[in-house]
Amino acid sequence: MRCKTAARLISLKLDNELSASKNVALQEHLERCPSCRQVLASAQALQSELQELKTPAYPEYLHYRILSNLPRTSKPRWLHQPKLAYLAASLAIMLSLLAGTWVGIKGYEGSNAYAQNLEEDIYISFGNNSLMELFDE
Ligand SMILES: [Zn+2]
Repeated sequence: MRCKTAARLISLKLDNELSASKNVALQEHLERCPSCRQVLASAQALQSELQELKTPAYPEYLHYRILSNLPRTSKPRWLHQPKLAYLAASLAIMLSLLAGTWVGIKGYEGSNAYAQNLEEDIYISFGNNSLMELFDE
């Protein structure tokens, strides 16, 4: 095995992705090659140092800085408050119900007038001998 191949296998070994057969081949190379042993030792030392590092605490201002740099949405700001959004939805529903009631009343008034006109038309057309006369009795 060449040192270049061994370096690639050392990297896989550190990531726990080296197969057992290739690990045996790497061990054979490491027994004969002091420079690759040195590479493995320093890489393992670096890996353990990196694992000991703690995630740095975020500065408090970072949260506000991110929020203030977010792009503005097209939604009006009051829609972001849930209570106002529910109020707006309730008002829209109530307005549509009122509009429906108004349309219904207007439609009924119109149909009533139409029915009366129709009744008069029938009397005009058939006079007193119409069936309407029989039903009225
Ligand atoms: Zn080597």
